[in-house]
Formats: sequence, structure tokens, C-alpha cells
Amino acid sequence: MDLRFGDSKPTDEERAAVDALLGPPESAWEAAPGSFVDRTSADLRWARGGRAARERRDLLLPGLHAVNDRVGWISEGALAYLCRRLTVPPAEAYGVATFYSMFSVRPRPATVVQVCTDLACGARGAAGLCAGMEAAGVPFERSPCLGLCERAPAALVVRAGEPPVHAVVAPARAEAVAKAARVPHDAPAEPGAAHAVPQAGEEGLVLLRRVGAVDPYSLDEYRAHGGYAALRRAFALGPAGVIREVTEAGLVGRGGAAFPTGRKWQATAAQPDGPHYVVCNADESEPGTFKDRVVMEGDPYALVEAMTVAGYAVGAHRGYLYLRGEYPRALHRLEHAVGQARARGLLGDDVLGQGYAFDIEIRRGAGAYICGEETALFNSIEGRRGEPRSKPPFPVEKGLFGKPTAANNVETLVNVLPILTGGAAAFAAAETKLFCVSGSVERPGVYELPFGATLGELLGLAGPPERLRAILLGGAAGGFVRPDELDIPLTFEGTRAAGTTLGSGVVLVLDDSVALPRVLLRIAEFFRDESCGQCVPCRVGTVRQEEALRRIAERTGAAAADDIALLREVGRAMRDASICGLGQTAWNAVESAIDRLGAYA
Ligand code: SF4
Repeated sequence: MDLRFGDSKPTDEERAAVDALLGPPESAWEAAPGSFVDRTSADLRWARGGRAARERRDLLLPGLHAVNDRVGWISEGALAYLCRRLTVPPAEAYGVATFYSMFSVRPRPATVVQVCTDLACGARGAAGLCAGMEAAGVPFERSPCLGLCERAPAALVVRAGEPPVHAVVAPARAEAVAKAARVPHDAPAEPGAAHAVPQAGEEGLVLLRRVGAVDPYSLDEYRAHGGYAALRRAFALGPAGVIREVTEAGLVGRGGAAFPTGRKWQATAAQPDGPHYVVCNADESEPGTFKDRVVMEGDPYALVEAMTVAGYAVGAHRGYLYLRGEYPRALHRLEHAVGQARARGLLGDDVLGQGYAFDIEIRRGAGAYICGEETALFNSIEGRRGEPRSKPPFPVEKGLFGKPTAANNVETLVNVLPILTGGAAAFAAAETKLFCVSGSVERPGVYELPFGATLGELLGLAGPPERLRAILLGGAAGGFVRPDELDIPLTFEGTRAAGTTLGSGVVLVLDDSVALPRVLLRIAEFFRDESCGQCVPCRVGTVRQEEALRRIAERTGAAAADDIALLREVGRAMRDASICGLGQTAWNAVESAIDRLGAYA
């Protein structure tokens, strides 16, 4: 692809896709070559540069989505047209387009079939599914985790067009996926979100209590089940009062870092620079994580309300909801919820008649695990490659668009609602956590348990396998524990004391039919693929880790010793010298498998 503006022209379809997003060109300078015969005198005086041009850069990712959704790939002509419209250098736009796995800059069929081959699907027959697809002659791509682990193995069919069609097939059999690939709009509907919540309808649920109990498209039902009581209380308390409640409740981030939410909000609110932003990180991509999807699909208004509360507390008037690109149903429901909230005065210039202005913009990710790192996510929204930034400065000072930003994930945000409706003390006394249980269990799904429940109690609910081999806590960035460690309390402190991590709440259960070296190799492949490549320890280390694991896949004892020593050395370098959490944790699971499970012994 030529990275300078050339003569490439967009097709009518590509031009229509871009214009549907940006509106028609304001000037002949913005149009594709040859599309205007004459330039008018107004064109000669037209220019967009400096700040006006920079302020449109964040439309690059939506623009790439628009073309990719309509046509299925991004041609040179389409990219050049988008670049002219946004005043972005083509080389930079090419760098962005090629960063994301959902985009292609090479021609490909309008229908793309993705089959998840990640950890949970691997434990439940993904290899057989792929073999069946090959036998049936259906082209497909092997995909990292699609976030459908409770229904593994999973496949996602995307057919480009206007509108594009998405079909989720899970649990998937080769014939069903092949049929969905032929006629995706006829694929059977997915089960309701409550299907992913084995405890649905039980007493004691806090975060999941509305999932399955309300129509996710009905604002009235949401309100009838307690919706918007928290926002009313927030207005009664005032911003400082909201932050005080959240701080006293002791809420910490649920994305893995466990940073106190009240401190983050206080630090953002106190910044003199403006505007302030709220960002919801809904890009859950940790293999084995799907709780945020279930909350967004089953209770989307809760997230809209919680973001509004967060915005009010930190003095923001705009919130960005950055959603995984692989979550079409959550996208649809959230778009509907945001639209309804706007129409009913719950978003907009005068929220609930309180004189407070707040709105939410949904941005779709495009298949990059690293965009779950908050600063990479900011770059992604801003229309740049999703590469993490060095910290400091921290997001509370310089976050999205270089402005003070409070970034929280979905589970963290929805916890704010019970804090406000029930009070900080009541919340702290009965705080709960969501867990994503998948793999070799009878009842996979999202479970909500009080902090302090043990791993054994959680597995008891999910139905453990007879011959338990290991449990991966915290996902690919987490660590393995043994079957004799089921008394580990599921708290941040308890798992830390046991030398492991709660991470984002992944509990992936493996029985002894699973080949552990194959699982470790899959984790290594995942990190090699997902490393953004920005820093050497991670870029090179993840490759060396994979190579070593491949060499010892069939070896044990002395035959594996040299490579295990190498793995330790590389792992130390990644942990000590990588810029962000991906490189720092890429060796965790492998190390724990060697040291705790005795892999390769
Ligand atoms: S640690 Fe890896 S993912 Fe993170 S910035 Fe460095 S290369 Fe990128």
C-alpha cells in the first residue's frame, strides 16, 4: 500500500460509508481525487488545519469501522479518502488500521468467521470445532478469546454490509457455524443474558439482581427495579458527598489493579485543568473474562446511570464508553440505552432537571487486548495506535486528550449504584465480587459472591470436575493454583497472600484431560500476538518465551531444564523492564505452572 496520497479513489460504497459518519465533504479539498470537476472560489479559501484538524483525529477509528463494516476491508482508496476528510497523514492511518485485528488492509471476503481457540474454548472442544470447520471447507480465522466462555466453544460470524450482520454461535458445532456463515441473518438468536448467570433470580445478588429480571431495552422496567435512585441521591449529596461515600465504602477497581476508586475520583475532581472526562473501560479482553459483557447485555441502563454519577462526581460533562469490538449485542443494547436516556432527560444538557450536563459516547474497540490498558485505550479513542503511555503523568492529571480523566471498568462503576442507594457502611459490610467461571465445570457462568468466599465454595456452585488438575485465577496474566488450594479466600489480599491474584475475576477450571503444556503454549502465543511491540523486553521476551515453551512441549526433567532456566531469565526481564502490565505479567501463568503445578518436572 502506498503511504502517501496518490490517485487511489474510494468506491462509491466506501465513500458512502465515510460520508455517513462525517457528513458530505465541506470542500473539494476533502473530496476524493476526480470527484469534483471544478474547484470553486470558496474552495480556494477553505482550509482546515491546526486545532480544527487535530480535533477530528478521534474520528479515525470510527471511520475505519465504518468502511470495514460496510465493505469488509479497508482499501487504499478508502483509507486515502478517510485521511483527506480527517487531515490525517496516510502513513499514520495505515499504522492505526494495521494495529487492530478486526481490520484488514487486504481484500477479503465480506463474511469473516472467527473461531475462538483460547483457553476456555480450548478446554471445551475448540480443536475439534476447528477440525470440523476444515473438513467442511469453511474458511475461518482462529481468534483469541471472544468473551463467550460460558458457552464455549464459540464462533463469531461477521458479514459486512449496510448494516453489517453479526451471528454468535455458541456453543458451536461445525455445521451450525457453516450454516451461520452462509446465512448469518438466519442464525438462531442467542440465549438471554440470564443464561450466563446460574444464580439468576436468587436472593442476595447485588450487581446481577436485574439480569434476567428486567427487559434490557426497557427504561421503565429499569426504573421500576430501583434504577436512577442512585443518581437522585448523588444530586442530593453533591459531587464531594458522592466521592466521600465511594471512599468510605472502600470500593477498589475491579479490573485487576484494585486502586481505590474514591481516591481516583477525588484526584480527578481536584485537577484545575479542564475539561474533565470519564472513561468506562468496557474492553474486557483478558481470556476467560466475560462478566462485563453479561452486565452490559442484561442491565445496560445501570452502566449508563453509573457513568453519569461518575461524571457528576469528577466534574465531567462527557463520558466515553470504550466497548470491545467483539460484543455486538452489548453494543446494540448500550446504544439503545444511551438513546433512551437522552430522550428521557437522563443524559443531555439538563440531567434530571438538575442543571448538570452530561452525555456518553460509545466507541468500539477493534480487536486489540492491549487497549484494555487505560492509556492505550485513550490513544485508541484519540485515533492513534493503542500503545500504552509511560506513567507518570497518570490519567487523573493527563488522560484522554491530555485532560484529567477518571477511567473505571464496568464492574467498578456499577458498584457505585448500591453504594449510593444503600450507603457506604451497608455496602462495605456485604461487598460482592463477580467471577467468570469457565472450563471443565458443569455450570459455567458469572457468579456473584461476597468477598471472602473461598475458591472451593465457588467451585461447589459451578460443579467442579471429578479429576481437577488446576485452576487458572486471573486469566492469562494471572496464575495457576492446585486442587489442594481450594481454601484460598477470594479477596485481593487473600489471593496475594497465597502468591496468586484475583485479577479480573477469571476462574478457569482445567481437568486432567487438558494437556498443560498446550495451555501454556496458548498463553505464550496470546502474549506474543498481543504485545504492542513498543518496548524490547516485552516484544522480544514474549517471542523467546513462546519459542522455549514450544521446544519443551514434549519434554520433562533434565531435558527441559535449560529452557526453564531461560524462561526464568526472560520472565524476570519482562517483569522488571516492560512499560506496561502486559509485559510485566506475561510470564506469571507460566511461572506458576512450573513452580506450583510442577509442569515439565
Ligand atoms: S509491555 Fe508490551 S504491551 Fe506493554 S508497552 Fe511494552 S511492548 Fe507494549
